[in-house]
Amino acid sequence: MTNLAIIGGGAAGAAVFGALLARDVDDTVHWVAGDAAPAGHGVAYSTQEEHHLLNVRASGMGLYLDADEDFAAFSAQQRAGAKPTDFLPRRLFGHYVESQLRKRMHAAGQRQRDFRVHARQACSIRPTSQGYTITLDDGTALTAQRVVLALGALDARPLRTVTATALDSGVYVMDPWTLTSQPLSPRRLTVIGTGLTAVDTLISASKRWPDAELIAVSRHGLLPFTHPELPITPFPHQAEINASLLDCNGPAQVLATIRGVFAAHQDIDWRSVIDGLRPINAKLWQGFDARQRRQFLRHVRWIWESSRHRLAPESAETLQQLRDEGRLHIHSARVLAVDGKGPLSITLRSRATQRITRMESDVVVQATGLDTAVAFAKSPLLAKLLKSGLVVADPLQLGLLAQADGRLIGENGDVHHSLYAIGSLLRGNLWECTAMPEIREAADKLATLLATAHPEPSPLINA
Ligand SMILES: Cc1cc2nc3c(=O)[nH]c(=O)nc-3n(C[C@H](O)[C@H](O)[C@H](O)COP(=O)(O)OP(=O)(O)OC[C@H]3O[C@@H](n4cnc5c(N)ncnc54)[C@H](O)[C@@H]3O)c2cc1C
Repeated sequence: MTNLAIIGGGAAGAAVFGALLARDVDDTVHWVAGDAAPAGHGVAYSTQEEHHLLNVRASGMGLYLDADEDFAAFSAQQRAGAKPTDFLPRRLFGHYVESQLRKRMHAAGQRQRDFRVHARQACSIRPTSQGYTITLDDGTALTAQRVVLALGALDARPLRTVTATALDSGVYVMDPWTLTSQPLSPRRLTVIGTGLTAVDTLISASKRWPDAELIAVSRHGLLPFTHPELPITPFPHQAEINASLLDCNGPAQVLATIRGVFAAHQDIDWRSVIDGLRPINAKLWQGFDARQRRQFLRHVRWIWESSRHRLAPESAETLQQLRDEGRLHIHSARVLAVDGKGPLSITLRSRATQRITRMESDVVVQATGLDTAVAFAKSPLLAKLLKSGLVVADPLQLGLLAQADGRLIGENGDVHHSLYAIGSLLRGNLWECTAMPEIREAADKLATLLATAHPEPSPLINA
C-alpha cells in the first residue's frame, strides 16, 4: 500500500482529494490543508461578505466532474429563489465545497478507505528511498509516494515603487481581504488595481466607509467587462473560428482574427465568442513561443483578463452607482511611488497625458491580482523545492515548469511521475487553469492518473 499526499487546502486541493476518495484504490490519502481557512475554502471562498459574488453562474460552478449534487441544486435548497443562472455569493460556494467533501469522506469511511486531513502547513518535501518525506509545521513527517501541489495564489509582493516607510505605515494594505476588519477610518482610500479583486475591495470599502472617497488606479484604468443578465447563445460559427485561431502564428494574429470576427458579425454579442474560446485557450497559449508569450503578457493580457474574467451584473451596477454618485474615480496611470507614514503620498503618471501628479490617500490597498512568480514567493516550501532542483520556475514566472497534465519538471529536465501540480502553478503551461470549470476537470484527470500511475523511484537528492 502506498500513500498519496495533496498539499494545499483551497478548492483545487479539495477537488483532487474528493476525486481520489471516489476511486477504488488502496492508497492512504493525506490532505495537508493548512489552517488559514476551513478546508476547501481557500482564498476565493473564505470571504463572509454577501456582496462578494461568484463570477461564474451557479450552473457553471462545481467541485467534481462527477458531482454527487450540483451547486445549482444545493443553492436552490439553501436560498429560496436562487436560480442556476444567478451569480451567487462566493461564501455559499464555500459551504457547498464543505458539504461535498463531508459526503465523500463519509462514503469513503464506509468503504474503509484510509484518509487523513492535516490542518497544518507543509514546510518541506524531501525525496527519499521510500518516496517523499513531507514535513509539517508541527514537526510531523509524512511519507508519500506521490504528491500533488495545490498551493494556489501566492502571497502578494509589495510593488517595487512602494517605500519601506509606506509599507510600515499600517495604512498600506497588502491583503485586500483583511481591509474591512482593520481599525481604519479613511476619508480617501485608493486601490491599486482594477481587476476582480479590486472591484470586491471597492465595494466592501464603500459599505464599510460610506463617506470615503474611493479611487482605483491601474495602467489602463479598465474595469472587467460585465456578464449579461442571462446566458448568451453560443456563436454558431465558433468551431470554424477556433480552428482558424489554432492556425494563427502568435497573439497579434489571434487578436486580428478575433477582431475580424467582431467586425463581420456586428449583430452578435462579442462575449459569446470569447466564452467559446474556452476549449482552446490552453492550446492557443501552448502554440505561442517564448517571444510570443512575452508579447501576449505585455500587450494583450490586460484586455484579455477584462474580457474573459467578467463581473457579475450586480457588482457592475454597484460600481456604476458609486461612479454616478461621484464617490468612485478610476484613473488610468502608472504608480511611480507610494511614500509617507499616512496619509500616503502617491505619485502617478497619467497614461493619456504622461503628466506626473501627486495625491494623498489615507489608505492604499494593493489589489494587483494573481501572483505566480514562485522564485520570489514567501512560501518556505516553494523556496526549498526550487533550491533542491526538484522543481523549476517557469521562465516567465508563471508558476512551475510542468507538463499539461500537471507532472512537474525537475532541474535536469526530467518529467516527474510522482510530483504534480494543479491550479495557478500550471499557468506557464496552460495559462487558463485557475477557475473551477478548469480546476475540476484537471482534478478528475489527475485523480485518474494518480490512481493508476506506478510511482517512479524518486530522485535521491539529499536522501
Ligand atoms: C477573489 C477570487 C474570486 C474568485 N472567484 C471565482 C469564481 O467566482 N469562480 C471561479 O471558478 N473561480 C474563481 N476564482 C478562481 C479561484 O482561483 C479558483 O476557483 C479556486 O478557488 C482556486 O483554488 P486553489 O486551491 O487553486 O487556490 P487557493 O484558494 O489559493 O488555495 C490554496 C490553499 O493552499 C494553501 N497553502 C499554500 N501553501 C501551503 C502549504 N505549504 N501547506 C499547506 N497549505 C498551503 C493556501 O493557504 C491556500 O489556502 C476566484 C479567485 C479569487 C482570488
